Amino acid sequence: MTVLTRFAPSPTGHLHVGNIRTALHNWMFARANGGRFMLRIDDTDAVRSEERFVDAIRADLDWLGMAPDGEVRQSARFDLYEARFAELRAAGRVYPAYETAQELDLKRKIQLGRGLPPIYDRAALSLTDAQVAAYEAEGRAPHWRFRLDDTPLDWDDLVRGPQHFAPAAMGDPVVRRADGSWLYLLPSVIDDIDMGVTHVVRGEDHVSNTAVQLGMFAALGAVPPRFAHAALLTGSEGKLSKRLGSLGIAHFREAGIEPQAVVALLARIGTSQPVEPVVDAAPLLAAFDFAHFGRAPARFDEDELAAVSTRIIHQLPYEAVADRLPAGMDAEGWAAIRPNLHRVGEAADWWSVVEGPIETVIAEEDRAFLAEAGAVAAAMDWAGDPWHALTGALKGATGRKGKALFLPLRRALTGRDSGPDMAALLLLIGRTRALQRLARDM
Ligand code: GLU
Repeated sequence: MTVLTRFAPSPTGHLHVGNIRTALHNWMFARANGGRFMLRIDDTDAVRSEERFVDAIRADLDWLGMAPDGEVRQSARFDLYEARFAELRAAGRVYPAYETAQELDLKRKIQLGRGLPPIYDRAALSLTDAQVAAYEAEGRAPHWRFRLDDTPLDWDDLVRGPQHFAPAAMGDPVVRRADGSWLYLLPSVIDDIDMGVTHVVRGEDHVSNTAVQLGMFAALGAVPPRFAHAALLTGSEGKLSKRLGSLGIAHFREAGIEPQAVVALLARIGTSQPVEPVVDAAPLLAAFDFAHFGRAPARFDEDELAAVSTRIIHQLPYEAVADRLPAGMDAEGWAAIRPNLHRVGEAADWWSVVEGPIETVIAEEDRAFLAEAGAVAAAMDWAGDPWHALTGALKGATGRKGKALFLPLRRALTGRDSGPDMAALLLLIGRTRALQRLARDM
């Protein structure tokens, strides 16, 4: 069996962390098993779906390095839904119902008042021809319900283990509205069958949908896929805040977060495995297993994401960032400056320190020392390791050591008290600029 997963967002908004994590689980499981990962655009809702969100979803997946192996769109598949719906109708597995929203609401209130579960009473199944004719004459169009039978709605969830739902407790779901438009449940099953989806991987908010969808797979004569329902995502404060629910790729990009950090963090939160700041997803894929997923909500912490991103930046090769670096900054420059960065964008700041001009304030008590440093630097051999040549000579000549030796030099050469390793930085600054900086204010 070749694994086939699908990520099925509705293009009614931007992807947020929660659905990015679902996409990631689908992508990882497919990749880890040599399978295929499909994007399915759930755009049956023509009013709320927007093309700009479809584009944004594709761009987000690309940015994350999770480009799908193919794409299908529900809006292009209405003929298929119609055909399979006709089969279900002929088999009596979907039926028309005429209640208005208000009538259904009233029924539910009465049931609740009697302490009964608020499930549909199937009144539509016992309508007489005359009653149906009367509704039609009134201009009422039916909506359509799927008739659950007594097939047990059980499955062995890859995350949650054995799941059991009693059909009698479920209520026949509405699958199609009176205007002919589709609700999510049935088209999804028709697609999963048609696309040959082997594993449905999604959030646990879909667990009860899975129960009724199992009934639909059976009614359509299909073997259902395996299911994995991951526990939901919460913020570090313990609930899915509105802010977290809206955090998407645009926000992360603006914050200077690297895509590998999003992947590395979301791959591991909510699992028993540690978050590892890896540039390449290969080790994450090799270790991927739903058995490691926990049942408790996965906690997402933006500070943790930033920390993972920083550790990833410290490993990124020059080629991975070259197009985001200031003009003139080469591999050597990147290697020297990289360990000091939290965001790649900060490289420009350090590069301006290398290239100058820089602002420096020289303390009175360091003037003579820096004049001497200037003289040593002018006379010494710059081949090899000029920083160690300079500091070694100055140590012998002045008796200064430690901070008293290094800090005035760093300040004079960079205008700052801290930063990248001076040995690497001085090579980038070079002899000419270094001599000018040491001679300043003398
Ligand atoms: N469009 C559905 C959603 O976004 C897809 C759920 C599924 O994976 O089946 O919730």
